Amino acid sequence: MTKSSDSIAESMRRDGIPEEAIAAWQEAQAETGCLDKVRDAARSLGAIARSGFCRVTEEEHVRRMAICRGCDHFTGATCALCGCVMEIKTRFAAASCRQRLW
Ligand code: SF4
Repeated sequence: MTKSSDSIAESMRRDGIPEEAIAAWQEAQAETGCLDKVRDAARSLGAIARSGFCRVTEEEHVRRMAICRGCDHFTGATCALCGCVMEIKTRFAAASCRQRLW
């Protein structure tokens, strides 16, 4: 683990992100070397976990996915800005689009 990733992990702890989310982030970071995107994904996961994994309705999930599919940042599976898998992220009430599109 690099010094910068250690300091980011400390910052995530101060933000109240669960240790499991931080561990998942560290593992993904080690594999991808892509700090910013994976950190954002871990932050989203932390917010979702703190909300009790509360889900949106299927109608809202479909609405969010339609917006992502029409977005230039959608890769076909993930968001190029936040690094999240959108088919999963769009299902959770605590998740949000970084561009405030949903
Ligand atoms: S989360 Fe927002 S920015 Fe990312 S692909 Fe979806 S609509 Fe686009």
